[in-house]
Amino acid sequence: MRSARALIIAFIAAGFARLALAQTPVSYVVSFPEPEHHIMQVELALSGLPPTPLELHMSRASPGRYAVHEFAKNVFDVQVADTNGAALHATHTTPHVWVVAEHPASVRVTYRVFGDRTDGTYLSVDPAHAHINMPAALMWARGFEDRPITVRFERPTGTQWQVATQLFPASDGQTFTAPNLQYLMDSPTELSAYSLRTFTIRDGMRQPTFRVAIHHAGDDAEIDSFAQDVEKIVREERGVYGEFAPYDTSTYTFIADYLPWASGDGMEHRNSTIITSSSSIRANRGGLLSTVSHEFFHSWNVERIRPKSLEPFDFDEANMSGELWLAEGFTNYYGPLTLQRAGLTRVEEFAQTLGSAIDAVTVSPGRQIRTAEEMSQMAPFVDAAAAIDRTDFDNTFISYYTWGEAIALGLDLTLRERSAGKLTLDDFMRAMWERFGKPGGRAPGYVDRPYTIGDAKAVLASVSGDRAFADDFFSRYVQGHQVVDYGRLLANAGFVVRPRAAQSGFVGQLRLQDAPMGVRIAGPVPTGSPAYQAGLDRDDVITSIGGAAANAAEQVESVVRAARPGTALNVTYLHRGIGSPRNTAIRTTADPRLEVVPVEMAGQTLTASQRQFRDAWLRSKAGNTF
Ligand SMILES: [Zn+2]
Repeated sequence: MRSARALIIAFIAAGFARLALAQTPVSYVVSFPEPEHHIMQVELALSGLPPTPLELHMSRASPGRYAVHEFAKNVFDVQVADTNGAALHATHTTPHVWVVAEHPASVRVTYRVFGDRTDGTYLSVDPAHAHINMPAALMWARGFEDRPITVRFERPTGTQWQVATQLFPASDGQTFTAPNLQYLMDSPTELSAYSLRTFTIRDGMRQPTFRVAIHHAGDDAEIDSFAQDVEKIVREERGVYGEFAPYDTSTYTFIADYLPWASGDGMEHRNSTIITSSSSIRANRGGLLSTVSHEFFHSWNVERIRPKSLEPFDFDEANMSGELWLAEGFTNYYGPLTLQRAGLTRVEEFAQTLGSAIDAVTVSPGRQIRTAEEMSQMAPFVDAAAAIDRTDFDNTFISYYTWGEAIALGLDLTLRERSAGKLTLDDFMRAMWERFGKPGGRAPGYVDRPYTIGDAKAVLASVSGDRAFADDFFSRYVQGHQVVDYGRLLANAGFVVRPRAAQSGFVGQLRLQDAPMGVRIAGPVPTGSPAYQAGLDRDDVITSIGGAAANAAEQVESVVRAARPGTALNVTYLHRGIGSPRNTAIRTTADPRLEVVPVEMAGQTLTASQRQFRDAWLRSKAGNTF
């Protein structure tokens, strides 16, 4: 906000009417006339409309999701009227847009919307709760993006529903405000009889409050101890940056739905997260905490340290970003690292997590097709994207979560190695925070200094004091197709990278399924694998292998495993399951798949220098100040 005298005079000259008009809030009333039928009723009041046609939009994208979602599909009974209730004509011009060509200065829009999916992206209404992701539920008017907004939630009579949200609270517990559309759309809201735990943590001059609102079927003791672990994670991640992000309203809210009918998800927002799972705290505590750890790290990385490609978020189109290897991938690295530092996992579990990322990136054929930057740009096609045609993603795509996690690990270990432990990835993240996240935005919901991939490289150059190193690292591992030497780097910390089953035969990672005529290849055949080179493809039915009839998937797998690397296995198969049998031979190789184990569990001794390296990396940072 700038307060220049000239500006004030200009406003007076323009007249108070216009000032008032510019600030007339957009108001929503949300109610649930038929929760058992998953219906939400919305009333949207707009005033101070200019005489131009009014464009009403349902979003096609939701913050943190990168594919297009046609949220308009569940909207029905759209009606537009003037303030006396007289109907106005609205034309449905494109699937997600309604246009009201002629209208007075104030209009009232009503509609109903169906929603029955509990996760971070959609709307779910039922007698137990209303779980609202705003883009899936609230229509908005083009040109009104910067107006303040009020939302009133009218809970069904007879329910004890409370409201959990990052929206700004008004006085009555049911009315909330948002400073603008970006903030509103970023504020998912849960109405239910959830359990609430809160804690505060002193942070320099601030003392933010953390709310843990959990809608579940478990008991109070479970929530108490779960909230204590959430607090450990919150404190541990603060140690990476040395301070919390400045939450608007000084509050951060974890909103969790652990319900049998929920779909597994975690979605980050500025001052809150939505975490959903069909499993309970009792059954899946570790899994649920790992989502908490990932999502909370996003309150810095992506919510405020934000790629320019995602700022501001476009609700009408897919949001493509070449930086998700950093925004999602580095977050995916810090999720399990935080659990380990906080003492919530054992070192062998942490090693296993690293191993699966290294294995995927090292072995997947996709790495030669696209770089980590290009994989990030694939998000609109893979991030909860629906398609009915087949893709070749198993061969051409590696998740930017996984690849980014592997890059983060490689960079962290490289920085530690080349600086003798003085410099780490935490220093890089903190520098990104100082430069891009901390300066904030002109209003809640905006980030004024988003970064580009070139900016991230410049920060690495400055943190490491070595521009040539930063250029080389980016060109090989982020914008190129190489992987770091994980074996050497992890040995510094006393971990062994080794083949999972060096003595077993391998023909490629095939998904096999019992079929009437033999054993069907039920998934893509990995490019370059022995099975690929032998000409086998998805849907082929193997009828014999190594001279024996193929009767069951398990039997084919054990014939392959038993064949020493270099063995030629004769295979008879039916192409797509029909026609006359074809013959080929597959030459087995050694199983290339990798795992990571602590040296002390691989029959070796952890040396003093390995112990020191590992401790510096994995010990708690919760007490850090900078
Ligand atoms: Zn994420």
